[in-house]
Amino acid sequence: MTFKATVLTLYPEMFPGPLGVSLAARAREEGKWSLDCMQIRDFAADKHRTVDDTPAGGGAGMVLRVDVLAACIDHATELHPDCPILAMTPRGKPLTQARVRELAAGPGVIILCGRFEGFDERIFQSRPIEEVSIGDIVLSGGEPAALMLLDACIRLLPGVMGAPSSGAEESFENGLLEYPHYTRPSEWGGRTIPEVLRSGDHAKIAAWRKSQSEIDTRLRRPDLWERHDGARVQSASGARHEKKDQGK
Ligand code: SAM
Repeated sequence: MTFKATVLTLYPEMFPGPLGVSLAARAREEGKWSLDCMQIRDFAADKHRTVDDTPAGGGAGMVLRVDVLAACIDHATELHPDCPILAMTPRGKPLTQARVRELAAGPGVIILCGRFEGFDERIFQSRPIEEVSIGDIVLSGGEPAALMLLDACIRLLPGVMGAPSSGAEESFENGLLEYPHYTRPSEWGGRTIPEVLRSGDHAKIAAWRKSQSEIDTRLRRPDLWERHDGARVQSASGARHEKKDQGK
């Protein structure tokens, strides 16, 4: 099945962008996903092809017009009635790996990219749109956010990653950050690879990786750790002590 990505944007030339190289490019050539960019401006009704107007109530910037957005979205949903509609906006729900997995398992996505001050709010009242944020930052447009979301979905499509396990062991898949990695040379700048990773003892290696993953999550992302089951047992300050002890 082909994952259908439909992007509604004022800058279609920004696509496929980074998705035109490496894994994503190969996957697209193999028909694992498809890309269709729609120029929002094509749905403007006036001869100047106007897509924005000044904010009601005053203030800086311009706002994307609801009538133009609705015409564009309706066209996309007519073509892809089975695909969820996502709008990229810092006001949206923060994107998670769990949501990416759900989207990647579906037929595809219609992604609306904002510009200027964003969208006339009535578009969200009148169409079934999921508002998605890629983090507590403000970009100048939704296109880089859409590229991020698509990249995260595409790598999970069947057959895109070489080893299926490399997807399952990543950060966030089990609610934790991944353990740290090392590779040759085994000694560099006076620093060595942890002994256990050179032991060949798979059980010990697995135990070490699990413990590192827990310690790093507690230290770096107490918010994730709190949501994780193990949180009831150990605190972030406990993790700091463990990390210190390991450095001895
Ligand atoms: N006025 C908006 C606000 O303060 O919430 C910011 C608008 S931003 C300059 C222009 C567009 O960039 C947005 O409509 C959205 O499509 C995109 N964008 C910016 N930050 C984003 C984020 N964190 N996540 C997703 N999209 C974002």
